[in-house]
Amino acid sequence: MLEVRNLVKRFGAVQALKGISFCLYPGEIVALLGPNGAGKTTTIRCIMGLNRPTAGTVLVEGRPHTDPAVRMKVGLVPEIPTVYGLLTVWEHLRFVALAYRLREWEARAQRLLQELDLWEKRNSLGNALSKGMKQKVLLSMVLLHEPDVVLMDEPLTGLDPQAQREFKQYVLDLRAGGHAILMSTHMLDTVERLCDRALVLKQGTLLAEGSLDSLRARFHLPSSTPLEDIFLEATRAEATGAEATSAEATGVEATSAEEPVPGPAPTQAEQPPQEPGGRKEGR
Ligand code: ATP
Repeated sequence: MLEVRNLVKRFGAVQALKGISFCLYPGEIVALLGPNGAGKTTTIRCIMGLNRPTAGTVLVEGRPHTDPAVRMKVGLVPEIPTVYGLLTVWEHLRFVALAYRLREWEARAQRLLQELDLWEKRNSLGNALSKGMKQKVLLSMVLLHEPDVVLMDEPLTGLDPQAQREFKQYVLDLRAGGHAILMSTHMLDTVERLCDRALVLKQGTLLAEGSLDSLRARFHLPSSTPLEDIFLEATRAEATGAEATSAEATGVEATSAEEPVPGPAPTQAEQPPQEPGGRKEGR
């Protein structure tokens, strides 16, 4: 469903991604793990087209991710929950419905807002919402149009325990519906119970990839080893072999200026084009 090949991203002198490759298949949840600065957000932003890859290929159902025909098949729940300050909650969902030409979306939108405990806030402006509420608005926008590939960058941050539980159920429902989910997170306990596979990044290199059992076997860990220990073991290991394909090996040159991927405006309504106040604005 999604194929990332030798993805390289440089920000001037910083090599954020050094040539990572992986695939996502229908009906799976893949955890994207790594220490701070490993390149998780950069990976997700490159797939979305919010960062222009320095080199490498991102294919969605075999077509370049910049192709308008497949661009709508990828959705994002971003790390920084940025909503349109002057649109109401309901208008955010209407915006998605218009962008994706959804029909008879209102009943589903109402149900989503009720389930996410946002129905009472449907007429509130974006800038009057708490961080957790903004996160729920973005989540409801993704869930409304249900893209084939759902990218989530630290999606649980800011959600209260009840919302986290509902969120996890939504993720499982998406998987059951055949969607592919890539979720970056530091919440290893949570993701351990959700994910089918994990990708472990460090300093822009994919150190390890596989089911938790295969990772345990690879690092010679007992079968009961929790994901946290697998993660610590994997990130202690040195990058070797194919999983450590470096930017040097690709021979690409750095690009210093950051520009969005060319093509039509991003159709993922869940990531407003302006990111006022976002930490990662302007990447
Ligand atoms: P965290 O877990 O802390 O969110 P991460 O794994 O998401 O980290 P990224 O945000 O992808 O990491 O950052 C990867 C590397 O790229 C870091 O060294 C970071 O400093 C660098 N980087 C990211 N964005 C930019 C930018 N716009 N300009 C320069 N360097 C950047």
